[in-house]
Amino acid sequence: MKCPNCGDRTAVDLDTHSGGFSSDDSPLKECGACGLVWRVMMEHGKTKIDIIKQADTKK
Ligand SMILES: [Zn+2]
Repeated sequence: MKCPNCGDRTAVDLDTHSGGFSSDDSPLKECGACGLVWRVMMEHGKTKIDIIKQADTKK
């Protein structure tokens, strides 16, 4: 899975099972390069990128 922000391939899955997410066969992904957190959702048969946390720009 490529990062939709920077295209890096080091994204990792975040464990969301302890959180309050309900509809979850779509795990959160976090980019190891820019810090973007997103998930991929299916909507009307198409994939949709849902940005959870914006990329970490200031560091
Ligand atoms: Zn990224």
